[in-house]
Amino acid sequence: MTATRPQPRPGVLDIAPYVPGKSTAPGVAKVFKLSSNETPLGPSPRAVAAYRAVGEHLQDYPDGSASELREAIGKRFGLDPARIVCGAGSDDLLNLLARAYLADGDEAIHTTHGFLVYPIATLGTGAKPVVAAEKNFTADVDAILAAMTKKTKIVFLANPNNPTGTYVSFDEVKRLRRDLPPQVLLVVDAAYAEYVRRNDYESGIELVATTDNTVMCRTFSKIYGLAALRLGWLYGPAHVVDAINRIRGPFNVNAPSIAAGVVAIADTAHIETARAHNEKWLAWLTQEIGKLGLGVTPSVANFVLIHFPETKGRTAKEADAFLTKRGLVLRQVAAYKLPNALRMTVGSEEANRLVVKALAEFLGKPA
Ligand SMILES: *Cc1c(COP(=O)(O)O)cnc(C)c1O
Repeated sequence: MTATRPQPRPGVLDIAPYVPGKSTAPGVAKVFKLSSNETPLGPSPRAVAAYRAVGEHLQDYPDGSASELREAIGKRFGLDPARIVCGAGSDDLLNLLARAYLADGDEAIHTTHGFLVYPIATLGTGAKPVVAAEKNFTADVDAILAAMTKKTKIVFLANPNNPTGTYVSFDEVKRLRRDLPPQVLLVVDAAYAEYVRRNDYESGIELVATTDNTVMCRTFSKIYGLAALRLGWLYGPAHVVDAINRIRGPFNVNAPSIAAGVVAIADTAHIETARAHNEKWLAWLTQEIGKLGLGVTPSVANFVLIHFPETKGRTAKEADAFLTKRGLVLRQVAAYKLPNALRMTVGSEEANRLVVKALAEFLGKPA
C-alpha cells in the first residue's frame, strides 16, 4: 500500500515515549520531589554564578568543541581532553552513539531493568533492542554474553544501574569486555559513579584507557546538580570520538552549560559534601524502610528501590498515591518492569524522615 502521508522509519513508532518523574502533588503546599534522582544540595553556588555571567553574552555562539570544559574534565580525572566529547546531557551522547554504530537490522543489548533511554535510542535507529535477564536486580554478565548474536553492535550497561541502584564489579565488567567480540562497542553509563563507595567498583575510565572498544558516559545532572542545563560527556577511544564528533550538532552544548560545568567539576568540596550527605542518608533510608518490613534493594547510588507487597491496600501504586497526597513524590517504575516497586531519591534530612514516617503510617505501623 502506498503511504498517504510521511512515515517515520521502522522502529520509531515502537518507542514508548519516556515519561519523566512527576514533579507536582496537586493541592499540597510543600512538595519534595524525590522522583528524578536530583541532588537535594543543588549545584555549586560558584557554578550558578558562572552560568549567570554568560547572560551578558547571549548573542555569541558557544565554543563548538567545548574545549575549556573538556580541559577541566581532563584535569579533574587525569584524561586526555582530545578523547572527551561533551553533549546536551548523556541522553544526547547515548543517542549519538546509537546513531553512529547502529543501523537497520542491528541489535543492541541492555538488561531487564536497564535505563529506558537505551531501547529508545536503539529503536530510533531502526535497530532492535535485545534484553538480557538480570539476577537479583543486577546486570548479569553471563546473560549479556548469552544474548549476543552476529547482529549485536552495542552493549549498554548502566553501572550503577537506574532504577535498581545495583552495580557490577570491575572484575565482572572486565570479563564482559574480554568475552565480547572486539567489534562490539561496550557503553558504560556511569551517571552515578561519584556516589559509589565500593573498592571493587570502577567507573569505566580504566577500561576505556586499556581497550579500543569501550566508551564511558558521565553526566552533570546528578551529583553536580545541573540537570536543568543538560550537560554530559563521554570518554572513549580516539576513533569513537572522531565518529561522534562528525555526527553531533556543531554547537550541541550551550555556553551557560559550558561555563557552569567548568566550575562545577572543579568544586571538589561541594561534591564531597554531597557524597557524605548521600552516604549517611542512603544507609539510614535502607535501614529504616527495611525495618518497616519492605524490601529495599541494596543501592550504591543516590536512590533506593523499595519493594511493596501485592496485597490490596499495600501496593506500590497505592503507596505512591498516599505519599503524593503528603507532598512526597517518588517514582513509579512499572515502565522498568518493576510494577511492585517505587524508586526514591535520597533527599534532604527533612524529606527522608517524612517519607519513612509516611510509609509507617501507610503500612499501619505509626512510630
Ligand atoms: C540520570 C541518568 C543519566 C543522565 O542523563 P542526562 O541526560 O545526562 O541528564 C544517564 N544515565 C542514567 C542511567 C541515569 O539514571
